[in-house]
Amino acid sequence: MITRIMDVSSEPINMEYIREASRILKSGGLVAFPTETVYGLGGDATDKEASRKIYAAKGRPSDNPLIVHIARFSQLEEISVDLPATAKKLADAFWPGPLTMVVNKNKVIPYETTGGLDTVAVRMPNNPVALALIEESGCMIAAPSANTSGRPSPTKASHVYEDLSGKIEAILDGGAVDIGLESTIVDLTEDVVTILRPGYINMDMLREVVGEVRIDPGIVYNDKGTTSGARPKAPGMRYKHYAPKGDLTIISGEEDSVVSTINKMAKESILRGQKVGIISTSETAGKYSDGEILIIGDRTDERSIAHNLYDILRQFDELDVDVIYSESFATPNMGQAIMNRLLKAAGQKTIEV
Ligand code: AMP
Ligand code: MG
Repeated sequence: MITRIMDVSSEPINMEYIREASRILKSGGLVAFPTETVYGLGGDATDKEASRKIYAAKGRPSDNPLIVHIARFSQLEEISVDLPATAKKLADAFWPGPLTMVVNKNKVIPYETTGGLDTVAVRMPNNPVALALIEESGCMIAAPSANTSGRPSPTKASHVYEDLSGKIEAILDGGAVDIGLESTIVDLTEDVVTILRPGYINMDMLREVVGEVRIDPGIVYNDKGTTSGARPKAPGMRYKHYAPKGDLTIISGEEDSVVSTINKMAKESILRGQKVGIISTSETAGKYSDGEILIIGDRTDERSIAHNLYDILRQFDELDVDVIYSESFATPNMGQAIMNRLLKAAGQKTIEV
């Protein structure tokens, strides 16, 4: 199969491409498309075969459910049962936007899409191309991140092409995404709203809308890097994800100690014959001397750090480094989301200095 790339990065959106992509979806094919979080790999959410194809193209375990993307709140009502009042409140506050809600499903969405679960994860993305595609196709679109399973999520069309070229019908290229980290996932099927995956919409923002919010104990790590022992409720959070080829270690603490520790570790690695990568910030890049030094962003702009994280991990794969040393990014609002991804990529390996 030859994967077509359709450029929809300029305004007004080229509707001919949206119609072509819609035809592919309606005939059971797959189209990758931009959202404000990361690129998604879309298929018709009500079509079992399309969902099977998504798992096959990604090499994703079939018990890891897909997120259903919608363009109107009524579509959430169409596919769910026992929808709690909090769903409407959260939608009014954050949709379209980077929040995914897990609710009880009815028969409209097949088990192939939900990895066999009786619940379904639903989101209304805030991206004009994504919304146009959902509206024009009339499909609710099942879409996980458009990467090969185990690789960093794609934040540019070129990342999607690297992973999925020849395996899907088309890619809608809408340029680089906005946020760069996957959506916040909340579970609405229990009494208290529970965060299953941290993202741009954080605990404080959710509490302002619905009051009590808790975090799934299965995704909380203590400072030794181990969980409370509970199993994450979102199946995807149980897998080792986003792992770069190079062995990643995070060094956290006061800036000066972090920099000198990374410099020391980099020198030792190079003496051992290893190729070294360093994840720095614009504030610290000049203080490192050895290895491939990449700048993830600016400490005063946490969005820049989130935005570049996955691209940096892919760049280190291309540079074929053996080890990567990274600073830690416990920034005020997105810190939990950023560190959740970075710690996973590092297999939780952290050194406190
Ligand atoms: P991705 O779209 O690749 O970011 O992955 C979707 C994420 O949503 C994975 O972590 C899934 O495990 C999670 N997810 C999807 N549906 C459900 C559900 N019904 N219950 C809990 N987690 C879900
Ligand atoms: Mg993913």
